Amino acid sequence: MNVAVVGCGQLARMLALAGWPMGYRFSFLAMPGENRGCVEGLGTIVEFQPEQSMEEIYEAMGKPDVVTVEREHLDVELLKAFQPFCAVCPSPDAVKICQHRGREKRFLNGLGIPTAPFKLAANDDELRQGVAEMGFPVLVKTCEEGYDGYGQWMLRTEEDFAELMALDSRPELVIEGLVKFEREVSLVAARNTEGEVAFYPLTENYHSNGILLTSIVPAELPSPELAEQAEEIGRKVLEAMDYVGVLAIELFVTDDGLVVNELAPRVHNSGHWTQALNVSSQFENHLRAITSLGLGNTQPSQCVGMVNLLGCRPTKEQQSLSNVQVHQYNKSLRPGRKVGHLNLWSDDRAQLLDQLNSIKQDLYGPDSV
Ligand code: AMP
Repeated sequence: MNVAVVGCGQLARMLALAGWPMGYRFSFLAMPGENRGCVEGLGTIVEFQPEQSMEEIYEAMGKPDVVTVEREHLDVELLKAFQPFCAVCPSPDAVKICQHRGREKRFLNGLGIPTAPFKLAANDDELRQGVAEMGFPVLVKTCEEGYDGYGQWMLRTEEDFAELMALDSRPELVIEGLVKFEREVSLVAARNTEGEVAFYPLTENYHSNGILLTSIVPAELPSPELAEQAEEIGRKVLEAMDYVGVLAIELFVTDDGLVVNELAPRVHNSGHWTQALNVSSQFENHLRAITSLGLGNTQPSQCVGMVNLLGCRPTKEQQSLSNVQVHQYNKSLRPGRKVGHLNLWSDDRAQLLDQLNSIKQDLYGPDSV
């Protein structure tokens, strides 16, 4: 099986690392200037040249059986152009929905799935009117291209609003009401070409400045019904999109149940813990899903967690812990850059949380916990 991935980041790397033992071969499509360090040595890297025909690109990539993605911010037309040659999973239409926060929220609301209240603003008048109608505080986000908290403005006062208006230009924006949430969780879901669906247990996530720092499983939930509600949401989304592959759903836990923050049409940082213990990782299940195999086990036998390595390397002491699995992405250090993660596990959730927090503190200081 020959799998092509659009993108050369750490998610592409981990897909390939999961697929090599299965006998799969990989190629990666790099945009001009894209950093390729993560996938070096893991397959053929082809640089996208707009003047090349799709046939030439398809051939340069080794005539893949299936093309997949490791990020949602890409040219959907490019994905569509692969369709005469091979399968494309997830479909370009599914990726397109997830590329735009407004489109995504409308799609979810259309399925009866709650999101933050929102208004779209394509120009300054709509922005002024939208903020006035929603009232402070609001969170304003770019509709496209935003990730990890970038492209977001928290507006609490007229002064904050004036600062946003003083920017030279503004892309299309979504104005979101603030959701009062108790915690943040995510559902990593998989659906294969035959429509078989599997869910990993809900993951509880802790962010700092919009960037994921740690995850722990099982999530602590105010009521067990929330896990069922999450799977119901997951099933509806997967089926409505006729989705094939792994999809992640970021959720807020509120007093009124779950509210969806956003969808990611790909393997997800909050699912990295699935590389540990006896489960089929999200990477393996994504590959199984898009190559018409049955899905593997998604239920870990112990509590499990993950700490992101943001602009830092793990200490020798951390790497030496007997319940720690180290993943580094072959990236150079830059402040805040995701260069790796640690997975760790324990029979005891409280003990695991303590260990996660102590590693987090060692890496990022006492204020991080
Ligand atoms: P996002 O880029 O949409 O994933 O947002 C990054 C983080 O900002 C989320 O993980 C939340 O912690 C917070 N956040 C985003 N949207 C909202 C909202 N509507 N209400 C409250 N917090 C939010």
